[in-house]
Amino acid sequence: MRHDSAACAARMNRLRAGFSEADALLILGAKNIRYLTGFTGGDGALMVGPDWLILLVDGRYVTQARAEVPGMEIFEFRNRVEGVAAVAGRRGVGSVGFESPLLSVEEYLRLKEALPEVKLRPLPKGFELFRAVKDDGEIDRIREAARISGEALAAVREMILPGVREEEIALELEYRMRRGGAEQVSFETIVAAGPDAALPHSTPGRREIADGDFVMIDYGAVCDGYHSDETCTYAVGHASDRQREVYRLVLEAHDRAIRAVRAGVSCGEIDRIARACLAEAGMAGYFSHGTGHGVGLDVHEAPRLASGREEILQAGMVVTVEPGVYLPGVWGIRIEDTVLVKQEGCEILTRTSKELAVIEH
Ligand code: ZN
Ligand code: ZN
Repeated sequence: MRHDSAACAARMNRLRAGFSEADALLILGAKNIRYLTGFTGGDGALMVGPDWLILLVDGRYVTQARAEVPGMEIFEFRNRVEGVAAVAGRRGVGSVGFESPLLSVEEYLRLKEALPEVKLRPLPKGFELFRAVKDDGEIDRIREAARISGEALAAVREMILPGVREEEIALELEYRMRRGGAEQVSFETIVAAGPDAALPHSTPGRREIADGDFVMIDYGAVCDGYHSDETCTYAVGHASDRQREVYRLVLEAHDRAIRAVRAGVSCGEIDRIARACLAEAGMAGYFSHGTGHGVGLDVHEAPRLASGREEILQAGMVVTVEPGVYLPGVWGIRIEDTVLVKQEGCEILTRTSKELAVIEH
């Protein structure tokens, strides 16, 4: 990772300023630890005091931690709970704010037992949004991931033909993203043809594409830790009037939602706009998931753009807009872009055209 110690220091200041009720904070999520320190290991804990900071890792990660975060105090543990208890004891903390979604009940009970005098407090819900507003360096990485993935899809598009299997396209697309500079794929690529496209999270299999199918491709690349997320739905050979009509409807829901994205609007409002558009055509019942989600070090992160969500979009957030219609056993359409929220409007980072493309053969 291009380690950016100034960005990490700013994030650490923001953490200390925003979550200061406890004597120490216990950060457990690997992506949160990476965000705050630059350490990219998959496991560990970070304890943050008012004027001290200790990264706790097991033996596998000591060398990596020293290299990635030079100068940071490292504590090597055999068992994470014992490590946290030892550090808390040594520092004499009276209360610890911890990431409750990431500590198992068993670990919590063992920690309580090891630190009977210490108050353990879950971090407030607002902590979920701690990484939601991206800085310029993060936005550059997401933009780069979107560029790499978009170029890979453009190269693979001509393969989307009758007789080709879903898994062949997924494999080629993933290969092209890696060859194009992605360090990983964002998630297992979805290539879903015909009735498979009616499953929002289909796994690509041996199904052969047939003439007249919709082929839904949901995919993304990771660049320096940051993800992109985009879905394109193509028609193969020809599209029926009904397919064109529903595609136009989903695209309209997508466009209206994107036109509404700007700082100050609630996440639930974006979802409501997409859903209302489908409802006008009686299709809201076929849209079985939320309209979008934050994208960053995780492909799915806060905020969620779903019904009733009151979180307010802020400039610098990166979120997806991805309405869909899924007709069980028949076909499905999803149209997804990753967008950067701005003071006025938004910028679409995933650049593949979303107009209906009928792939001729
Ligand atoms: Zn997606
Ligand atoms: Zn998504």
